[in-house]
Amino acid sequence: MYQGIYGNSKKHESDLDQVIIRALQAGLDKIIITAGTHQETIQALELCAKHDNLFTTCGYHPTRCNEFNDSNENEILNQMMALFQKHPKKIVAIGEFGLDYERTQFCDIDQQKRYFEFQLKHLITLNKPLFLHNRAASKDLYDILHKYRDQITAGGVVHSFDGTLEEALKFIELGYFIGINGCSMKTQTNLDVIKQLPLEKILVETDAPWCGIKQSHASYSHVKTQFTSDMVKKEKWIAGKMIKDRNEPCTIIQICEVIHSIRGKQESFDDLCETIYLNTQRLFFSAE
Ligand SMILES: [Zn+2]
Repeated sequence: MYQGIYGNSKKHESDLDQVIIRALQAGLDKIIITAGTHQETIQALELCAKHDNLFTTCGYHPTRCNEFNDSNENEILNQMMALFQKHPKKIVAIGEFGLDYERTQFCDIDQQKRYFEFQLKHLITLNKPLFLHNRAASKDLYDILHKYRDQITAGGVVHSFDGTLEEALKFIELGYFIGINGCSMKTQTNLDVIKQLPLEKILVETDAPWCGIKQSHASYSHVKTQFTSDMVKKEKWIAGKMIKDRNEPCTIIQICEVIHSIRGKQESFDDLCETIYLNTQRLFFSAE
């Protein structure tokens, strides 16, 4: 989408550089790209080489686990291992990987479980944090993480969280952060869960270009900073404008604003942001 390509059709020229400039102007100082295959990590590393502020993950998303089979699994693993070893500063997490039981059309549950565990078992030896995807699969994800709990030394985040409070607290108890984005705050039930989470266990994310906060979401009324006046439809793109329904890193302030509001402003907005920032630093950049 930041290349101007939506589905298979090109709607405008690439504006990735402008997206990154807007993010830096909004105060972000580091951005983690979430790759979902070995090939996506290679593409992300090309961007990382051009921008000091960019970092990436390395792993196979549950919807991409059909790329593994008995005869190539070790080869793919070795390719990933080689990338981690070659780019120890730019690859800051293992992932995005995990389980997605809402989109089993791409990869069935048995294959997802098999290759989540396969990646986990081998890659945790790298001592990197885990960037975890979880859709309607909390129990199985928890069980696999629990099985390897003594070998997992660098913690991780369950990103784009939209589960129950009980599920969140179990992941927290096991040592994980909970990642909150626009998709985590669509309903009032979601908001009631998030407001009960300890701030020291929350991370924020955009999941851009996905998961922007929409007017129909329960979170919307809590947002203060609006970008709509800077947005145009993709067909009408002109330089310097954001695109309607395409999310960007600069909107991350909205996630913080919603969390601040639903927590009843029990701490100042700056203190809330500072705590979440330090959580992020501690998880992904503590080796610096
Ligand atoms: Zn995800």
